[in-house]
Parts: sequence; C-alpha cells; structure tokens
Amino acid sequence: MPTQKHFITPIAGVEVHDIFELDAQICIRGKALITSDTQCPSCQAKCFRIKATKTREFNHALWDQKLVRLELKIPKLLCKPCGRYFMVRVPGILSKKRSTEQFRQEIFHLHQGGLTQTRITLTHQISASTVESWYQDFVAYRVRELSGRQCPQSLFKMLKRARACAGRRHGSIRNLPKHCP
Ligand SMILES: [Zn+2]
Repeated sequence: MPTQKHFITPIAGVEVHDIFELDAQICIRGKALITSDTQCPSCQAKCFRIKATKTREFNHALWDQKLVRLELKIPKLLCKPCGRYFMVRVPGILSKKRSTEQFRQEIFHLHQGGLTQTRITLTHQISASTVESWYQDFVAYRVRELSGRQCPQSLFKMLKRARACAGRRHGSIRNLPKHCP
C-alpha cells in the first residue's frame, strides 16, 4: 500500500481492508464497524444481532485527479426488543446518500469558489443537477445554522449568487430568506 495514500485513512467508523488504484479511481474497501454507540433508531436498544451484510459504494474524495470511492460492507442488524431491522450508520454518511458529507461539502466549496458545474461533472464524475442540488442543500443548511443571527455579508453574497443561479434555471429558489441587508 503506497504510503502517500495513508492520509485518506483512517475513516471514522470504518475498518479499511484494502486500497487499490484503477485508471480513473481509487477504491477503498472496508467494513462499517459496530460500536458502543450503535443502537436501534426506533427504540434506541443496543441489543441486536447481525442479520446480513450489504455492500454499498460511496463517493468520498478527489485525490491526485482520481475519484476516491468507498466500498463498504455494512451490517444489517435485527433489534431484539422491537424486531425491526436497521443498517449500521457510518459517521459522515447520511441515510440514503451515495456520497460522504466530506465529498458533498467539497463540491459545495468548489462551486462556491467559482468552479463551474461543467468542470465539476468532469473532475468528480457527478451530474450538473447533483452539483446544483447539493449546492442548494448547503446554502439552506447555512441559512438554518445562521437563522436568528445577523446575516453576514459573505452569506448575503452566497444567497444572492444562489438565487441568481436558481433563477436562471427554475425561476426561483425556495426556503431562502429575503431579509438580508
Ligand atoms: Zn428496536
């Protein structure tokens, strides 16, 4: 395993088994760990057994012009008290997302910094509509995070840009305040 790739590991909640390089991708194989924090999302019980294991893939980063993908075996657990099934949560990966939050934030910051959707579709191998969707996700997140505080100039500029961008595409953008100075 080349030492220069060690910086992309360790990944919280993941036991890495293998890293290998393809033409346009770097693949990290591993498994999601059951920890002392693992609990049933329905009843919060920590009494369960492994029912199955599923393999899921996620976009994780861009390194050396190559897309870093996680290929993880994720245990499916059966909660003994309530009888429900649930998947082990991997820190930094939201439910039903196919990319880590680290990756989604990277896209947001690149686009915010001026990199075009077209360029990002080439470098990060995701669609322009996904770039747009994630950008709006994080703008809305920032708005929620800062709600109640005085709207800083940088956020105002960010909102203005997001509205202009959305306006060109869809005519409007939802859930964004209009009271910034
Ligand atoms: Zn339960």
